[in-house]
Amino acid sequence: MRSRQRTLVCILLCGLLAAVHFATPWGSQAIAQSIVVDPGHGGEDPGGSGNAMDEKDIVLDTSLRLLALLRSSGEEGGRNWTAEITRDTDVFIALAARANYANSLGADRFVSIHANAFGDPQANGTETFSANEPTTSSAMRDLVQEEMIAEWQLRDRGGKTANFTVLTNTSMPASLSELGFVTNTGDAALLASLDARQRAAEAHVRALVRHFEGIPEPEPPTGSILVQVILNDETLDAIQIHLDDVDVGVTGEDGSLLLEDLALGAYQVRATLPDYDPFELGVEVRADEAARATFELTDEDGSPPDEGCLGCSSSSAPSNFLGLLLVLVLLRRRRRIPT
Ligand SMILES: [Zn+2]
Repeated sequence: MRSRQRTLVCILLCGLLAAVHFATPWGSQAIAQSIVVDPGHGGEDPGGSGNAMDEKDIVLDTSLRLLALLRSSGEEGGRNWTAEITRDTDVFIALAARANYANSLGADRFVSIHANAFGDPQANGTETFSANEPTTSSAMRDLVQEEMIAEWQLRDRGGKTANFTVLTNTSMPASLSELGFVTNTGDAALLASLDARQRAAEAHVRALVRHFEGIPEPEPPTGSILVQVILNDETLDAIQIHLDDVDVGVTGEDGSLLLEDLALGAYQVRATLPDYDPFELGVEVRADEAARATFELTDEDGSPPDEGCLGCSSSSAPSNFLGLLLVLVLLRRRRRIPT
């Protein structure tokens, strides 16, 4: 018996879904909590002054220490943190611009660092502000206050509310720390101490760790793939499907198999038809969207799909389906010659 070549034409409709709606701005891996650290004042605005110190210098150094700790303590805190800072030099930045910066980053928390000043040098102690209470901001505020009091052991002036611009214009929970009074000799000794500033930064990190411990970690975004196998316009059931070499089941009676809760990223989908080499195609899974992996196969003895109807296959695609990637793969397999 003469062997005959059979040819399957595989038209792969790979639904590359629009990147219109990212669940988060942080990409596909573990979700990071982004913190914006805000050293008050700067440049022509020295803030409070006393005991031969300007507030702007104290809070910049303390904030840079906090920034460094946050950037290095993501693992320690059990969180994948990122941290940015509104200024890292002695420069003036308007209050609204500080809030806008954090908003533009889509930051999760805003932590402003200040030191107090008052005409009466007897005024002393630590206080921490939020815009309102009770809020997520005031919950964070209270932990910052608690950790700062435990660390510096200055007079506890408590958690307070104030309509400071950096607290009211920020679109994420925000707190503002008044570490101590530059105008008070006792407080100023701590404000001047590099060791004490480091410990203040550590106290803020501990407060943030505790703050986030009380909040469930957000679930990483997932997506799904709808696999469908069609041969000569007929859907095929019981077709073995592999995802990156993992057996994920077979197609159902409608010729499809829905793979859900997939981590975001690129996958290879493989359909194994009896008597043929497997067919493969690449699919990109995006957040909260169903990607499509359609194996549209035509036996050479059957009628090839109408070119004009290829688009019809996407009729069930989501509205933000940007484009179809049509991949034409010609796969040939010599039929085994009976012996
Ligand atoms: Zn200030």
